[in-house]
Amino acid sequence: MTRVAECGEDEIDRAVAAARKAQNGPWRQTTPADRGRLLHKVAALILENKDSITKMESLDTGKPLAQAEADCVVAARYFEFYAGIADKIGGVTIPLTLDFLDYTEREPLGVVGQIVPWNYPLQMSARGLAPCLAAGNSIVIKPAEEACLSAIELGRICKEAGIPDGVVNVVTGYGSEAGAALASHPDVNLVAFTGSVQTGSTVMQSAAKNVVPVLLELGGKSPNIVFADADLEKATPVIIKCALQNAGQTCSAGSRVLVHRSRHDEVVERLVELAQKYRVGPGIDNSDMGPVISKRQWTRIMDYMDIARDEGAEIATGGKRPEGKDCEGGFFIEPTIFTQASPGMRVHDEEIFGPVTTVVPFDTDEEAAGIANATPYGLVTGLWTQDVTRAHRMAREIAAGQIFVNTYGAGGGVEIPFGGYKKSGFGREKGLEAINFYSQTKNICIGLT
Ligand code: NAD
Repeated sequence: MTRVAECGEDEIDRAVAAARKAQNGPWRQTTPADRGRLLHKVAALILENKDSITKMESLDTGKPLAQAEADCVVAARYFEFYAGIADKIGGVTIPLTLDFLDYTEREPLGVVGQIVPWNYPLQMSARGLAPCLAAGNSIVIKPAEEACLSAIELGRICKEAGIPDGVVNVVTGYGSEAGAALASHPDVNLVAFTGSVQTGSTVMQSAAKNVVPVLLELGGKSPNIVFADADLEKATPVIIKCALQNAGQTCSAGSRVLVHRSRHDEVVERLVELAQKYRVGPGIDNSDMGPVISKRQWTRIMDYMDIARDEGAEIATGGKRPEGKDCEGGFFIEPTIFTQASPGMRVHDEEIFGPVTTVVPFDTDEEAAGIANATPYGLVTGLWTQDVTRAHRMAREIAAGQIFVNTYGAGGGVEIPFGGYKKSGFGREKGLEAINFYSQTKNICIGLT
């Protein structure tokens, strides 16, 4: 049993004041090169403490140890990547007439409020924190109430690395109290939010009252599209992994499979076989798939099983709580695959955020693109084909922020821009592009006559 502080408006207020003070003081005096060195130290400390953080993350979220360890390595990689960028965030000179000298500078925004979900608490905290610090901002992080221990540990590591007091603040508490106070705080200069569409919209409305920009990373219902010429031996293990990773509680989960009709039965058969091999059990025992985060989430996902059945979808495998001693009393769900689903059904269109996948057949490339685009989301899409022309053409047709061809994910994808089209959000995290959202451009024009 662990107890965590329930903070609210007062604590957020104090944290924002501390962040502002540090921003105007010691952090402003820290050179970009030194910011980079500090971020490198954070990365090294995460890796040094990898075993304990892995265990903590697994116990806190229920995710398998191997996944928690991978999260830890990716978190460290964020700090390495942005450490190398901290002293390369510069402006440009703009040629006008001989009468002017014009140049730009990239400046920090000031105080960033970061609101983090429970599915990848460490990775998500690192994803926002590292570029935020590289660009010279200070930050107040509000992790999710369901899983916040690794964010607190990350705060401790930042202190140990030598980042000045007040630059990194972690405030725990409920979304409706601490989260709402952070999103609406008048002295916050950017709200970086990752979570559900509904809360994202609320956060955006709060920030709008202060005319503060938001960076929204929201949900997804991402498809893997398997064309007739796909290499199924290679494709299906990846497809099942991206559907079931983290018990399906991944914004970029490949939670829909669209298959050319000629390969439909074969794909279903392979996916079912792979899904049934998953060892479901406590994450701390390093099972293949752990429980979902909470009773609330478990009930929500199980409700979708009934909704899908009522809509006419058929269960190819899964659909209930697994049997066996390991799963007794926990919020476990069998890896579940539905066939006979189609656009317009809730199980196909809505984000379930659990280990549930639908398989839908298509006949033409145009139809595949139409089904892929037929949800309110647009986060990631996987294309499986040997035809390079089709791959490029389809990549253009799909409304999503990231397209993968014959792969899905890129080892954490720290270096590549990530973010949504449509209701999956806007702005981009990761890669060099994130720096654009954690800094602002100032133009300086000097008259020379
Ligand atoms: P959520 O929106 O309920 O909570 C996310 C965070 O917002 C938590 O820290 C919570 O405390 C806080 N919050 C809740 N109410 C708030 C309010 N009124 N004001 C301010 N903050 C508030 O989402 P969740 O259930 O924790 O996460 C699941 C959702 O997050 C899914 O839709 C998933 O797709 C999405 N997600 C997206 C990404 C991405 O990068 N695109 C990553 C992970 C999760």
